[in-house]
Amino acid sequence: MVIELINTGTELLIGRTLNTHQQWIGAELAGHGYALERQVTVPDTGPAIESAAREALTRAQWVMVTGGLGPTSDDLTRDLIAGLVGVPLQTDPEVVKHLEEFCRRRGRALNESIRRQAQVPQGAMVLQNRHGTAPGMVMLVPPGRFQAGPAWLVMLPGPPRELRPMVREQLIPLLKRLSPLSRPFAGRVLRLTGIGESQVEARIESALAPLVGSGLRVAYCARPGEVDLRFDAIGSTAAGLVASAVEIALGAVGDWVFGEDEEELEQVVVRKLRSHSATLATAESCTGGFLAHRVTNVPGASEVFRGGWITYANEAKRQWLGVLATDLETHGAVSAGVVVQMAEGARKNAGSDYALAVTGIAGPGGGSEAKPVGTAYIALAGPRGTQVLRVVNPWDRLTFKQVTAQQALDLLRRELDSRKDSAPDNPQGCGR
Ligand code: ATP
Ligand code: MG
Repeated sequence: MVIELINTGTELLIGRTLNTHQQWIGAELAGHGYALERQVTVPDTGPAIESAAREALTRAQWVMVTGGLGPTSDDLTRDLIAGLVGVPLQTDPEVVKHLEEFCRRRGRALNESIRRQAQVPQGAMVLQNRHGTAPGMVMLVPPGRFQAGPAWLVMLPGPPRELRPMVREQLIPLLKRLSPLSRPFAGRVLRLTGIGESQVEARIESALAPLVGSGLRVAYCARPGEVDLRFDAIGSTAAGLVASAVEIALGAVGDWVFGEDEEELEQVVVRKLRSHSATLATAESCTGGFLAHRVTNVPGASEVFRGGWITYANEAKRQWLGVLATDLETHGAVSAGVVVQMAEGARKNAGSDYALAVTGIAGPGGGSEAKPVGTAYIALAGPRGTQVLRVVNPWDRLTFKQVTAQQALDLLRRELDSRKDSAPDNPQGCGR
């Protein structure tokens, strides 16, 4: 079965917006065993969208078009696609209700241009938009129109926060129901931190070789501070192959596995803190609040996160966290002694069970032979004492922050895992 994707939007072509739909939808389909065969990006103009859809419909059984469903004059997709397939637009009363409710909740008037989004091609299935106004639509293109067989034409809204839940919760189940895979598929992603992708490969490659010979596919995806290790297979032995691969990987590199699939390290840490009924505080210099930002991105963080300090200046470290002036002068702000006092000061001031502290040299200036750019000290103060980590992350400032925050969170993850009262709280059963 052929699936093609058409992303509409002039902003994607002139580089004002990164086309994340292509990557995200491709990964989402792959995660369910479906392959995206072709992708094209076209400007928001009528002829471009029309010719791309027409061409894709001669080949693909599923054509997905993103963007251009909104209320403004450059939003042409709905009208064009309906015209191309040759069906009239009709007002969908359910969508009108949704639009009315959406506007009422936000204290906005339901004007004509918003109401236009309730126009749905006759016979199309509607995908509800929980996060916006324009619904998604799925149309059956009858056999003989563009190709011998039938095809499904899908329209999805442009904003990622509207498109993603719609794809995951409504489109993928529909795709599986209407076009089930001809052979079983199995896939899992292990997420690792603190180890590079080539090191992961070196440790598992030979053990996995027989499984690869039997059809297992292995893929690595490295991002700042983490590596995704993906296994998948097709056919009657798929589930067994993937399960064996996961077992081998956990045996060889399980120490670095923090989670599975989409779970982020901060989610794992918040989950583990909650399961221990433990609280956290942060004291940050070089990460400038990024660590607290990541923790507070997790729903339910308020149960475990007490607060944090951004102590960028020496004076702030002294005044708010009680770091000794003599240590700042003798050892410098980027030192083991200072980071320990930051963590212990934060833990004491916040009254938390744990405190993470970070201090480092983000660069590009400020490095020395003994402490090159990228040097950071991370401390974790907790009920069992204080641990310090020295790392060197010589990347650009943002990557430096990401990687350093990752290392700090991982220090806490490992500490929580090694507690005597640590219960196996990982629902996917991975980790150490
Ligand atoms: P709206 O109702 O917001 O107009 P729409 O369905 O008409 O939604 P567009 O106007 O095409 O969609 O895009 C809306 C927003 O979504 C824009 O900010 C756009 O940059 C973003 N967007 C659209 N397509 C993509 C994409 N492929 N990747 C990432 N962002 C995208
Ligand atoms: Mg728009």
